[in-house]
Amino acid sequence: MRVLFLGTGPSLGVPVPTCTCATCLSDDPRDKRLRSSIYITAVNTSFIIDCGPDFRQQALVHNLKKIDFVLVTHKHNDHIGGLDDVRPYNYSQGRVMKIYGNEDTIIDIKKRFYYSFEEKPYPGTPKFELIIVSEDIVIDGLKIEIINGFHGEMPVLGFRIGDFAYLTDFKYIEDSEIMKLAGIKILVINALLPVREHKLHFNLPEALQLAEKIKPEKVYLTHLSHRFAHFADSESRLPNNVFLAYDGLELEI
Ligand SMILES: [Zn+2]
Ligand SMILES: [Zn+2]
Ligand SMILES: [Zn+2]
Repeated sequence: MRVLFLGTGPSLGVPVPTCTCATCLSDDPRDKRLRSSIYITAVNTSFIIDCGPDFRQQALVHNLKKIDFVLVTHKHNDHIGGLDDVRPYNYSQGRVMKIYGNEDTIIDIKKRFYYSFEEKPYPGTPKFELIIVSEDIVIDGLKIEIINGFHGEMPVLGFRIGDFAYLTDFKYIEDSEIMKLAGIKILVINALLPVREHKLHFNLPEALQLAEKIKPEKVYLTHLSHRFAHFADSESRLPNNVFLAYDGLELEI
């Protein structure tokens, strides 16, 4: 299985328009972060986790030819705002795009993209099949385990696929859900800020604390704000097996 990071940024992206901080002015390409999303290629299938407002650009940059389905973590705009742009895949693949999410997210998608769900949608609207997931599923022969968390009050889905797990926009996770992550090799987890606490997101110490409980071989941090800079010493401040993910990073699992 191959994981490609399409975006590793927070809802504002990095650089942040109008900001003149050192990260936003950095020349290091790893400090340019589109909204968080990954592309996974497995034996019989290819899919994305989340589809934010940068999706079209991400699909072009990485020349994504095939997307069999979309998993969505939660209903915030930076995770579902790009769904209208699955239209080229509707055309090229000749079928509807299957979208899997929790009930809260699926209800929101129906509201946002209401024009696709009208009795007679106008020509050219995206074609979705919305599927509510609440427990582990097998899609195209691939087992996807659901990891439930909370993003403030909002329920958020994480996903475990074999030895790999992707958790973004988590702030709280119950011990029983942490148990489901036992034995993974690679953990991707959100860390919005290096030091300061945030109501909705793990900061770095909280992400490291959770990683310490799960004990994967490697940890990649994502959904990184401009408070993290690759050009500076961010990585040297991290434990040896913890890395800042960056747009375009590929992992073979
Ligand atoms: Zn987000
Ligand atoms: Zn900045
Ligand atoms: Zn969010």
